[in-house]
Amino acid sequence: MKIDTTELTSFIPADDIFRWLVKTRNPPPARVREVIRKSLDKNRLEPEEMAVLINTEDPDLVEEIFAGARDLKQLIYGNRIVLFAPLYIGNECINNCQYCGFRSTNTEVSRKTLSVPELDREVEALVKRGHKRLILVFGEHPRYDARFIHDTVCEVYRQKHANGEIRRVNINAAPLDVDGFKTVKAAGIGTYQVFQETYHQPTYQAMHLAGPKRDFLWRLHALDRAQQAGIDDVGIGALMGLYDWRFETMGLLYHTIHLEQTFNVGPHTISFPRIEPAIGTAMCNHPPHAVSDYDFKRLVAILRLSVPYTGMILTCRESIQLRNEIIQFGVSQIDAGSNIGVGAYSQEDGESYKKSQFVLNDGRSLDQVIRELCDADFLPSFCTACYRLGRTGEHFMEFAIPGFVKRFCTPNAVLTFLEYMDDYSSPETIQAGMRQIERELQRMPNDERKAKLIERMAEIRAGKRDLFF
Ligand code: SAM
Ligand code: SF4
Repeated sequence: MKIDTTELTSFIPADDIFRWLVKTRNPPPARVREVIRKSLDKNRLEPEEMAVLINTEDPDLVEEIFAGARDLKQLIYGNRIVLFAPLYIGNECINNCQYCGFRSTNTEVSRKTLSVPELDREVEALVKRGHKRLILVFGEHPRYDARFIHDTVCEVYRQKHANGEIRRVNINAAPLDVDGFKTVKAAGIGTYQVFQETYHQPTYQAMHLAGPKRDFLWRLHALDRAQQAGIDDVGIGALMGLYDWRFETMGLLYHTIHLEQTFNVGPHTISFPRIEPAIGTAMCNHPPHAVSDYDFKRLVAILRLSVPYTGMILTCRESIQLRNEIIQFGVSQIDAGSNIGVGAYSQEDGESYKKSQFVLNDGRSLDQVIRELCDADFLPSFCTACYRLGRTGEHFMEFAIPGFVKRFCTPNAVLTFLEYMDDYSSPETIQAGMRQIERELQRMPNDERKAKLIERMAEIRAGKRDLFF
């Protein structure tokens, strides 16, 4: 049931955003460095400070922002990268979002919702490639109500295939009311993501021409309702290209501050997808405010510095080269081996693009991505321990508790990665992966935790699964 939104107000102060963006033009280098230092001291930045970074144009200073983002990532999170895959459940949609291949008026898209046996086949295909974490994606349609989402999540968790199963299911779906969020929470979800798309309301109204999504405030308050329903693990995002990225990045920060102030907890993740070409959707070829690769790098680094505690997600929408570069700026999660055609993991018929929301630019397999991550000295992780032990908001703990990454995250990454290699890897990836694990072990102090880790690694090699700290 959708509730009257006339009482809701916007917590995105557009006038203030424009004011800050004008007031901080041409910031002195000393001020830029001061802001970067504040972030490296693990402080969330204020809007004026983010605006200083956004207005930094001098290439040498921009390099210092990039370096700051890299340092912050190393300092807080180390070199782990969590891997997941998107699973599209259905592309029926009653909205008319101008940028989306699923919009109701698009006659070129082929509509499809997975049946339960089809869902099972998709999950089996993903599990057999080694995935442990999924994000389920839905169009907005009465048939994808809270009960349907709940039942879909339960069905995913029910699947077991040899040594594998999905251990964490996140959701990207339409905003629900509080009762709806409670229903979905009961299925044991991880993060619930709702992207605002654009925080600039006039642009929002121009982009969303029909359906419930036209209601800016209902969507803006979606994650407040999720919190009220007990989901404290929420993801925000803006679709880059609809309006000026500077405004959107500030919007993400104001949304973060609103969640912090209202619920004492900021977003678990921030997403910053760029518009990609989509079937039957000419505007995607020329987004009104297309973001260049360079500005995209800047916005990722600025977000990292501005909200040091949050997880940041970079998807296969971006090219391989750009992903490899941007991953250093504080990205904590990437998808890999993704296929976003509905039903296409198990039955690729050459026509899956007709059932896809947009086109992906990184077509590498999970195995290949993992190998390349190791070659670049990243540690792939499939860890789901915190969420399953009720340590929700693992990014907050990584951030807030000294030594948390060393004690929990890195050993759990090693254990889940070893499982992956034993069960699913190609020989070349095993070579690269074992070298990476060796490097990780060398970096660890020779203490009790390391001894315990080596013991558990031996147990995994002997066939045990799902061990974690
Ligand atoms: N239908 C739900 C909704 O709109 O909230 C679920 C999300 S939709 C299936 C997933 C996200 O994909 C959207 O929130 C939007 O940010 C993004 N998206 C839509 N069209 C896109 C495009 N052409 N290129 C890249 N991302 C796009
Ligand atoms: Fe539907 Fe979501 Fe696409 Fe909009 S973005 S048309 S709501 S699937």
